[in-house]
Amino acid sequence: LLQLFIPLGMLGIVYRQIKYALADMDLVFKLLEREPEIEDAPGAPALALRTGEVRFEHVDFHYQPERAILRDVDFTIPAGQTVAVVGHSGAGKSTLSRLLFRFYDPIGGRVLIDGQDIRAVSQDSLRAAIGIVPQDTVLFNESIYYNLAYGRPGASRAEIEQAAEMAHIRDFIESLPDGWETVVGERGLKLSGGEKQRVAIARTILKRPRILVFDEATSSLDSRTEQAIQQTLAEVAENHTTLVIAHRLSTVVEADRILVMEAGRIREQGTHQQLLAAGGQYAAMWELQQREGAQSS
Ligand code: ATP
Repeated sequence: LLQLFIPLGMLGIVYRQIKYALADMDLVFKLLEREPEIEDAPGAPALALRTGEVRFEHVDFHYQPERAILRDVDFTIPAGQTVAVVGHSGAGKSTLSRLLFRFYDPIGGRVLIDGQDIRAVSQDSLRAAIGIVPQDTVLFNESIYYNLAYGRPGASRAEIEQAAEMAHIRDFIESLPDGWETVVGERGLKLSGGEKQRVAIARTILKRPRILVFDEATSSLDSRTEQAIQQTLAEVAENHTTLVIAHRLSTVVEADRILVMEAGRIREQGTHQQLLAAGGQYAAMWELQQREGAQSS
């Protein structure tokens, strides 16, 4: 029934011309039922999740041996804190989230959660601990209720409504003529970029993961919607260990730590104020963005 195909090596990319729209990367892997490249170690125990500290320890990575993508990437996200990653397109930012979710293993170094090498624990337990708000949320051609409930099978109606409320999308849903039964997706109501992101946020709230990854959309939202989404993300990120893959600097100002990546290496790191004071690449990017912002407004 599912006419699914994906060339190996292009996993992580969501295809649209399939019978069901796919909701996130985890589901892509499930539906494909492909021979996983990454396998659990025999008898791998579940991740023993404690505070949710994430550590990249001297990580090297490439997709193809002739082209290094990450080089000696070393950082920690202390439990409950937010680390944002910025850098030019292709610097390797999204690759960090793929390694954390264990779509790939590092070539060198380790990725640790609460001190455990993620290669040594079961993938199910790893992925249950992490919620990803992806760049582009693809919706099922089903009711909006179904699309939210997917976040956690078995969630009650009250929990789903509450998640929608926290993601600031409940009023919108209830204002639709068919309310929660409105069919969305390619063949239903087309949601705007901002609304789709809110659906993704609501799903993640329902999942209640300890660790969050926000892969910010590259396509730009209007600045009011963008600010509103950022505010919602900040609320959700509170008390969670959070990795933000940022495409706009305005998103990262409040992060506990900002990593500036260039060609697969961390070139600078610090808080927004520290990086501005350092007068390096971040400061230059910030100034450029401020100027562009001033011109376009
Ligand atoms: P952007 O800001 O444009 O999203 P990014 O910093 O997140 O970029 P990544 O998606 O991490 O960049 O990609 C880093 C590099 O790895 C890019 O040059 C990209 O072309 C390459 N790359 C990404 N995925 C694959 C893959 N599956 N196979 C081969 N190369 C890949």
